[in-house]
Amino acid sequence: MSNAGRAEVTAYVALGANLGDAARTLRDALQTLGGTPGIRMTRASGLYRTAPVDSSGPDYLNAVAEVATTLSAPALLAALQGIENAAGRERPYRNAPRTLDLDLLLYGGARIDSPDLTVPHPRMWQRAFVLVPLAEIAPGLVTGHHLSAVADQAIERL
Ligand code: ADP
Ligand code: MG
Repeated sequence: MSNAGRAEVTAYVALGANLGDAARTLRDALQTLGGTPGIRMTRASGLYRTAPVDSSGPDYLNAVAEVATTLSAPALLAALQGIENAAGRERPYRNAPRTLDLDLLLYGGARIDSPDLTVPHPRMWQRAFVLVPLAEIAPGLVTGHHLSAVADQAIERL
């Protein structure tokens, strides 16, 4: 499902890593994402450090990217999962520490509720590690109300 010839859609992708050289993993992932056919990187946030939420292990590093894509939402998700797998991600148990996690936050204005894909990402509004980097690159999408709701979650820009 490449939707070649289709107009580009603006999508937002959250990146997180908390094992190994997380900063390197995120920078490599951003580069791979922008180099994927059908995906053009238009903005990337800086890297942020956060304590694990619903997970364990070392602190996470997080970032959010804005892309312009001709891929369908399922094809974009498949591309994200391909990048996760290439980074050596394993899923020993739910919410386990991970070398790389790529989540699709928003795909244009689409609402998707399929077994494999929910968009907007259902937990994005509760997570400082998503909202703070998202606000950096797309301030119009995140309100002060959203940010105050997650103000108790420590997050530091590197
Ligand atoms: P999580 O990101 O919630 O910690 P995983 O990365 O292991 O967990 O994802 C679990 C499943 O979530 C994936 O197999 C994917 O099909 C599904 N999923 C549903 N909606 C989304 C989304 N918006 N972005 C990424 N994955 C999603
Ligand atoms: Mg994920």
